[in-house]
Amino acid sequence: MNETPSPLEAFDTLRSDLVSQHSDAKGRLQTLYGTLGNEDVQTYEQKRAVVTRIQRVMQEISHKAKCTRCGLPAILNASLLQFRMYDGGVFHFDHNENGTLVSHDPSITLPELIPIPDPEIYD
Ligand SMILES: [Zn+2]
Repeated sequence: MNETPSPLEAFDTLRSDLVSQHSDAKGRLQTLYGTLGNEDVQTYEQKRAVVTRIQRVMQEISHKAKCTRCGLPAILNASLLQFRMYDGGVFHFDHNENGTLVSHDPSITLPELIPIPDPEIYD
């Protein structure tokens, strides 16, 4: 039984392959994130290096980080000046709220990272 799939079935197979690759990538991203300790993100430069890499992977798999304050899909970011809490900068979650860009839940230490599908792409 080695029937050649129809072109439509082949599209469906391609899509389900991609979905499973994204799911694997999401798991790997969370595992890698779990290996980071707060000693790895003490300086602003370290925070920046981590969030840049997370953003790139999230973009590749069309996901965003769940805002730990309100649950909306957000970009995990790091900044030095936005919240003057700490010389080493802070992590925060950026997203739109009623058309305005907001930054939620600033933290000095690694926040919880929950990748969720990007609604701008999936809707
Ligand atoms: Zn939020």
